[in-house]
Amino acid sequence: MSGLEIKDITKSFGNFTAVDNANLSVPHGKFVCLLGPSGCGKTTLLRMIAGLEDPSGGAILLDGEDITPVPTHKRNLGMVFQSLALFPHLTVGDNIAYPLRIRGASREEQKKRAGDLLRLIHLSGYEDRPVSKLSGGQRQRVAIARALALAPRLFLLDEPLSALDAKLREAMQVELRQLQQRLGITTFVVTHDQREAMTMADLVVVMGNGKILQAAPPIEIYRKPADAFVADFIGMTNLLDATMDGAGRVSVLGQAIPGLAMPGGTAKATLSIRPEDVHLGPAGGNAITGTVTFVRDLGGTIETFVEAGGKSIVAVATPRERPDVAAGQQVGVTLPAEACVVLKS
Ligand code: ATP
Repeated sequence: MSGLEIKDITKSFGNFTAVDNANLSVPHGKFVCLLGPSGCGKTTLLRMIAGLEDPSGGAILLDGEDITPVPTHKRNLGMVFQSLALFPHLTVGDNIAYPLRIRGASREEQKKRAGDLLRLIHLSGYEDRPVSKLSGGQRQRVAIARALALAPRLFLLDEPLSALDAKLREAMQVELRQLQQRLGITTFVVTHDQREAMTMADLVVVMGNGKILQAAPPIEIYRKPADAFVADFIGMTNLLDATMDGAGRVSVLGQAIPGLAMPGGTAKATLSIRPEDVHLGPAGGNAITGTVTFVRDLGGTIETFVEAGGKSIVAVATPRERPDVAAGQQVGVTLPAEACVVLKS
């Protein structure tokens, strides 16, 4: 297969298993985000792809070739880490051309390649500036350009944007994604920011406790999470207990949800429903009755928190669909069956 294949990869440190039998197939040219909470094994998996960590078991194949025994410097990778490790005493151009200089490229070749890369990262004309005079975002782009100088087969980045402030970070996410699409280079980014992963990735790989829990396009992860952990980690969700009665009806908080089915004979499950799919209306009828506890108006969206049967349910609406409710009011909460995802309990 053209692309990267991770086969039964495990990494143990003493008795501790940091990556537990991971399997992943990434076609050439895809943007992959390794996502998960702190300590779940993202960096360890990336470091094994980079050859900076030897797997305890399993293999890594690049375009069909087993690269597991190949040392890092022979894997033809571009890498960017949180600490950018630029040379502060060198100019922008010399930083970018550094890998070419080490390879013995001519001065002319270095200049041409640095010029091409500077155009790519929108910093043409900056070649003679010292990197110490650049802003955080500009430095980030220089680090990216330097990593791409040798036209690598794989581009690996570990939390590359985490040192930037929120606005710049969002802009850089879009820029990085557009750059990757232009180059068509297979890219892995480690992040613990689900919004960042949703922005950039073709494939989001959600990890927990060293295991790959789900690997799928972002919207599939959002709409069809594999389990409650993934549902809760990606975006906001409501996790509620669902039970099936003897007549085959599925109820949540004592209210039957018409049209909702449980997977093969299960009597109990966890149901995930996104806040934008929760409808609020007048109490009564077939709706779950609850009490509004808090309304958070964020301008672009309005979050309404409702307590029902000891559970807090959040509903999100736009200002146009603004629910006419206030704290203390009784409301009816409707969970449309088609928006509910039934998960393993
Ligand atoms: P973070 O988002 O905090 O960077 P992560 O998901 O990238 O977390 P890893 O850095 O891969 O997590 O670490 C996974 C687990 O492996 C952690 O519990 C960590 O302490 C452990 N670990 C990583 N490297 C080593 C090592 N060299 N020796 C022992 N334990 C290690």
